[in-house]
Amino acid sequence: MASQDQISLFELFSPSSEPSPPEGFNPDLIPTDAKVPIPAGTYQTMEQMRVHCNQCFRCALGENRTNAVIGRGNVKAPIMIVGEGPGQNEDETGLPFVGKAGQLLDKILASVKLTENDVYICNVVKCRPPGNRDPQPAEIEACKGYLLEQIRLVNPKIILLTGKYAMLTLLGIKQGITKVRGQWVERDGRLYMPIFHPAYLLRNQSREKGSPKWLMWQDIQEVRKKLDEMEWDG
Ligand code: SF4
Repeated sequence: MASQDQISLFELFSPSSEPSPPEGFNPDLIPTDAKVPIPAGTYQTMEQMRVHCNQCFRCALGENRTNAVIGRGNVKAPIMIVGEGPGQNEDETGLPFVGKAGQLLDKILASVKLTENDVYICNVVKCRPPGNRDPQPAEIEACKGYLLEQIRLVNPKIILLTGKYAMLTLLGIKQGITKVRGQWVERDGRLYMPIFHPAYLLRNQSREKGSPKWLMWQDIQEVRKKLDEMEWDG
C-alpha cells in the first residue's frame, strides 16, 4: 500500500495542478501512516500543502486542530525562520507567530530592517499540541516531510532555528540553546543559526549586556550582516 500511496500523491499534485484544491481532491490519498514518507517534490505550492495539511492525520495532533499552520511571509524569501508548533492564536488564525511572541519577532526583524518580504516563517509541526505541550518525537517525525518540502520550495540562503525542536529536527543538535545560539552551521549549501525563541525573550525582559535580549540583538545584527554579504556576492 505504501508505494500506491506515494504514486497517488504524485498524481494528486502533478506539475499541472492549480494552487487551489485540485478537482477531485481526495483526502483518503493522504498517507495516514507516518512511516510512509512524503517524497521530495510532492508539492509545487504552499497552497497545495496547506490544503493537504488541513486534512492530514499522520499524527494525533490533527484531531484537535482548528487550522493547520503552514507559514507566513514571502515564499521566495532569503531567510526562513523555523519555530516549534502553533499555539492557540496560531491554531485559530492558521498563521504562525501571531501572538505576543510573534509581535516581538516582527519587532526584532524590523530593528535590522527585515520585513515579511525578507522572511518566511513556519514551524516544525503544523498542528497545535494540546495545552501548548512540547511536540513529541513521533509527531515531529510524522510532520518533518512537510517542513523539508517547505525548505525545498522557499530555497532560503539562511535558516534561523528558534528553540530546541527546530535545532533538533533540522540539525540534530541536542545542546542547550544558550550554548549554540548565534553560531553559524553550514549544511547542504545553506547557513543555519540557532536563536532564542521570542517567547523566551518575553519571559526575560532585561536588556543588560549578556542578557537573552541583548544576545538576540547581537545575533540578528549578524544575520543582517551575513545576508548583506551574500546579496553583495550575488
Ligand atoms: S502535525 Fe503534521 S503530521 Fe501531524 S496531523 Fe498535523 S500536519 Fe499531519
